[in-house]
Amino acid sequence: MSRFSSKKSRPYILEPYQRGGRNRFSCPNCKRKKSFTRYIRVDTREYIHETVGRCDKEKRCGYHRPPSEYYNLQGISSPTINYSIIKIKSDKNLTPSYIPSQYFSDSLRRRYPNYFSQYLLDTFKTVKARVKKVLEDYRIGNTNHFKGGTVFWQIDGSNRIRTGKIMLYNPATGKRVKDRYARINWMHSVLNIPDFNLSQVYFGTHLLKRNSNATVGLVESEKTAIIAAIAIPEIFWLATGGINNINQERNQCLVNRSVILVPDADATEDWKNREHLFNMCKSVRTSSFIELHTSPKDKIEGIDLADIIIENHKAK
Ligand SMILES: [Zn+2]
Repeated sequence: MSRFSSKKSRPYILEPYQRGGRNRFSCPNCKRKKSFTRYIRVDTREYIHETVGRCDKEKRCGYHRPPSEYYNLQGISSPTINYSIIKIKSDKNLTPSYIPSQYFSDSLRRRYPNYFSQYLLDTFKTVKARVKKVLEDYRIGNTNHFKGGTVFWQIDGSNRIRTGKIMLYNPATGKRVKDRYARINWMHSVLNIPDFNLSQVYFGTHLLKRNSNATVGLVESEKTAIIAAIAIPEIFWLATGGINNINQERNQCLVNRSVILVPDADATEDWKNREHLFNMCKSVRTSSFIELHTSPKDKIEGIDLADIIIENHKAK
C-alpha cells in the first residue's frame, strides 16, 4: 500500500485548459501573457483570487501560489467545500482523436534522419545496438518540419496515436535548439486536423503492456526517458512531457504498478506535492537519486537523470 493513499478529494484544482488558451492569464510575477493558470474551487468552479495560480514558465519564472498560502496570507481560514455538488467535467466524455497512421509510418522512414538519434548514436557508441532498439521501441520519428527534427509520438495502450511532439536538438550537444525561439510543435497542429480532440498520454505508454510487473520510472522530458531506457533497461521509462501534465487521468496507465518518480533537480518539491495523484499505483516513491548526486548549482540549473547518465558514461 502506498503511503500516499489518501483518497480525500482536493478542494481546489488548477483550471483545466480550454481551447485556444482563453482561460490562461498574464502571470502576476513575470507578466508573460497566457502563461498563468488559476486555481478554482472544485464545487462552484469559482476562481480563488487573481494571484492564486501557477505560471507555466516553470524554469524562468516558477511563480506558484496555492490557495492555502493565499488564505494564510489573508489570515482567514479556507472556505468549506460542498463536495456533494461536484459535477463531472463534461468534456471528459469526448472521445480522443487520433493521428492517421500514414503520418506515423511516414515519420519512421529515414528520409530525414533526426539530430537527436544521431546525437545518441554518437554519444553511446559502445552500445549502438541498444540505442537502436530503444529508438525503435519508442517509435522515434523523423520530420522535416524543422530540419533534423524529432517526433516523440504519444501512443496509447491500444497502439493509437494521440499526437506527436516535434522538437529539434543540436546533434553535437544533445541540447534543445532554442535560439530566438524554441523549436517545438505538435503533429495535430502541423496537420491541422479539424475538430481534433487532443487527449495526451505519457510518452512511452504503449510499452507498458509488454510486462505488467515491470517497475515504471516517470521523468519529465522525452529525452530523459530515452536516455534512461538506454542506461537502465530493466525499468520502463515514461515521460510526462511537462511538469503540469501529471494528472489522475493520465496516471490510469499506472494502475497497480510500482512507480519511481524521478523529477528534474529543480522540480522535486513540486512532484512531491503531486504524489497523491498516484493513488492507484501499487507503490510510489520519489527517487532520491537526483537529490543525492547533485550540488546546489545543479539544483538551480535543473539537471535531470539524463545529464547524470551522460556524465557517468563520458567518465567511463
Ligand atoms: Zn510567470
